[in-house]
Amino acid sequence: MTLSAHAQAALDDLAARGLLRNARSVESPQSAEMRVDGRTVLCFCSNNYLGLADDPALLEAARLSLEQDGLGSGASRLVSGSMDAHRAAEERLARYLEEEAAILFSTGYTANVGTLQTLLGPDDIAFSDALNHASLIDGLRLSRARVHVYRHSDPDDLERLLRAHRAEGRRALVVSDAVFSMDGDLAPLAELRALADRYQADLVVDEAHALGVLGPRGQGACAALGVRADVRIGTLGKSFGAAGAFTVGSAAVVALLRNRARSYVFSTAPVPLLGRVAVAAADLVEAADARREALRRHGKRLRAGLREQGYEVPDGETPIVPVLVGDARETMSLSAALFERGVFAQGIRPPTVPQGTSRIRLVPMATHTDAHVTQALEAFEDARRSLHR
Ligand SMILES: *Cc1c(COP(=O)(O)O)cnc(C)c1O
Repeated sequence: MTLSAHAQAALDDLAARGLLRNARSVESPQSAEMRVDGRTVLCFCSNNYLGLADDPALLEAARLSLEQDGLGSGASRLVSGSMDAHRAAEERLARYLEEEAAILFSTGYTANVGTLQTLLGPDDIAFSDALNHASLIDGLRLSRARVHVYRHSDPDDLERLLRAHRAEGRRALVVSDAVFSMDGDLAPLAELRALADRYQADLVVDEAHALGVLGPRGQGACAALGVRADVRIGTLGKSFGAAGAFTVGSAAVVALLRNRARSYVFSTAPVPLLGRVAVAAADLVEAADARREALRRHGKRLRAGLREQGYEVPDGETPIVPVLVGDARETMSLSAALFERGVFAQGIRPPTVPQGTSRIRLVPMATHTDAHVTQALEAFEDARRSLHR
């Protein structure tokens, strides 16, 4: 079989199972109202929680940076140097999260992979939540540490595994998302911290969906719950409205990452404008209490309204509202019916979520109006009737 024929067969198989993915075409910025596939629709599927992706202050920071810093970063920072823009962002992000130091990466994916691969080796052991993000899973694989997966958000199961296996590893990490990306639930961080302490392990928390959204000044889930993590990872691609990511921790941990994280050492540094935008975004995110309040209000209304209509929506305290459907094809039909009614709400299927738990992952933005949320609820009501659900 030729490679191309192999690829076609794999695609045909995905299509037969309702799992073929096709991205829609977007002809506008990522804002509350978007142009998608030639229509004006309300966006209810981005992680642009605070609506900063097209914020004028961030666009201005990017423009100024192009004048001042140029476009490219030249090479890995260990080769052609750390530009002012990179250093300014790291200083600002460390201060925001009240940590000794921060290190920028190109994406959250590469931050997680580089961080875990550096902090663990073949003699070490990791305890990882069953629903952790793919990038944490891949980072643990690359580290070659032994990995034990505990049942989702289940401290009892984590303790069972720690008791049985802690001694097998020299160093141990407990690794968790702060907010689980497809379910929107909050990890039991205080319990994870206590267990990590009891079994001489360190705690690594991925704040991707909590940063800017939860906690005082949007500092995230650890800050919201008063829990200390040894290492935290945040992305600049979600509430920060841009792209890129960072890891924060002690000065020594960050210095080790600069030396050993392969996704940092062997990759061209992020464009300098990203550093300038990160600084400007940190200022906006810190001060965005009104936007966080709007986000909370929209999330609560969507959960309550959809449940009233008979949709299956689990409890939760974050703006991620999973509308459980189950079957992958039915999920995509509902997504299409919503789109016809002016609501862009993406269906999520395996392997992003477990088999049989396909869903619409509905995410409001702070920049939606109350009328937008009403419109979304009406679209669900109408779609439900048309699909006889
Ligand atoms: C989105 C996400 C990432 C990846 O971050 P990017 O900056 O998009 O690469 C990592 N972890 C979690 C939990 C995420 O949701």
